[in-house]
Amino acid sequence: MIMSSERKHHDFGCSKWPDLLRCADYKSTGGSSPAAERGTRIHKYWELIGTGQDLPEGADPEEVANAAWAAGVVDSLADAANVEWEQEINSETPEYFGYLDACWYKDPKTIVIADGKSGQGNEEQWIQLVGYANAMIQEDDNIERCILHFIYWDKRSLRTYEFSRDEVLNEVKKLLHHISTGTRNTGVQCGRCAHYETCGQVQGILLRTWQTDWAGVWNSPDSLGEIMDDLSFLENMKKRASSRIKELIAEGVEVSGYKVYDRKGSSKVDTLKAWEDLKETMSADDFLKCCSVNLKALQSTFQLRTGEELSGEFIIPGKPSQTLTKSRK
Ligand code: SF4
Repeated sequence: MIMSSERKHHDFGCSKWPDLLRCADYKSTGGSSPAAERGTRIHKYWELIGTGQDLPEGADPEEVANAAWAAGVVDSLADAANVEWEQEINSETPEYFGYLDACWYKDPKTIVIADGKSGQGNEEQWIQLVGYANAMIQEDDNIERCILHFIYWDKRSLRTYEFSRDEVLNEVKKLLHHISTGTRNTGVQCGRCAHYETCGQVQGILLRTWQTDWAGVWNSPDSLGEIMDDLSFLENMKKRASSRIKELIAEGVEVSGYKVYDRKGSSKVDTLKAWEDLKETMSADDFLKCCSVNLKALQSTFQLRTGEELSGEFIIPGKPSQTLTKSRK
């Protein structure tokens, strides 16, 4: 079995398709992030649970609970069908390869593909699954229907799409046509795009923000709503500029007005080891008064051990707060 972290990536791999659907000229810069590494670990645990193998020692209980939940979803969806994990896919038209998380046949004419995702997901993700389906239908002429599932472990939800063979082919054709037009659109992908520094669309945002009549914005609900996308984009630009400054300083380049300070990490306690060492000299009550329990980890561990949701009066509800989110049009 090939683990997600060991997979090779194709330049036109399906995971890039949602970004390409937003912007025809998107070009990945590669690289990883802590969130991506967490996703890779949960994928790995999911495959291990799905194939009945042991989990590595010291695996994070919250990540394991997410993987166990996702494995349960595949179990109930597959309904005793033979599930293939980490299936390699190869497409000739267009040419690409990759690995899908799990797939099985519902009947000889229907392939089901499941992909695990961290976070909230986005509107364009479905095209990634269409990419997997496109490769599968090229290998099996009998497939007439593709059922595609996204399994969102963080929010414990499932999103399902259904496409006929012709619809899959048509969506791929539409994507290729869109890419050939080169139409650029800014979005979440820009921060990971190799064209970012020189992109006219990105510069357009700078120009628009510069030309904004700020005095008029504060009293105009429409203008406030319109300017928010540009401002979110600029916020991300600042993040990117900050990491570039850190990189330059690390290379020995002077960046006027900026210095990087190394902060000493704060010491932490290995709770289990501390209890082992101190239990002769401290009571459990006193020790527990010095501990703060991670609710998410407690809920996950309890669920893994008992199969039930954790409840009790010791869970103190959080204080409500307000978050601004963008409503879909
Ligand atoms: S930076 Fe430009 S080319 Fe890259 S994704 Fe954004 S809009 Fe597209």
